[in-house]
Amino acid sequence: MSYELKNFKVLGYTTDFNKCECCGKEDLKGTVSILDLIGDIVLHFGSTCAANANKYDSIEAAKLAKQLIKDEIKAFEKAQKLYKLDCLNKAIQDARNEYQESEELKAYNKRISDSYDMDNSTYELHRAIVQENIRIGNIARDKKNEIILKYNLPDGFSYRLG
Ligand SMILES: [Zn+2]
Repeated sequence: MSYELKNFKVLGYTTDFNKCECCGKEDLKGTVSILDLIGDIVLHFGSTCAANANKYDSIEAAKLAKQLIKDEIKAFEKAQKLYKLDCLNKAIQDARNEYQESEELKAYNKRISDSYDMDNSTYELHRAIVQENIRIGNIARDKKNEIILKYNLPDGFSYRLG
């Protein structure tokens, strides 16, 4: 599009300002930051008011403004998604490190490897070994659940902790 907006420039979209400085509407999800070229000030308008800000200029200006605003909102939402994904991956990694380093998991892994060498020649001995393995395994599982809660991990990520 070769048409340039004469009266304002779309700078971006933000969720830091939630009130439209044009109509005063509050509790908006986000606002469009626009540079008013006439007044040389940055304003935060709701997307409807932002799209209408150039309405006295021309139809092309209004169309372009709408498109620019749409693009900015899209770019913002994409960045926000990536940021959330980043945060989640970091939380999973931290939780995984904490679980892998926990005494509870170490005790369970040691118990399993020790139990290979234990005398399980009778049913009673074998049963006692398995029961103790389960008891220690449950302690490790409780620890894992505690860490999942601590890091606020959503359901379905428990397998990624090991
Ligand atoms: Zn408004």
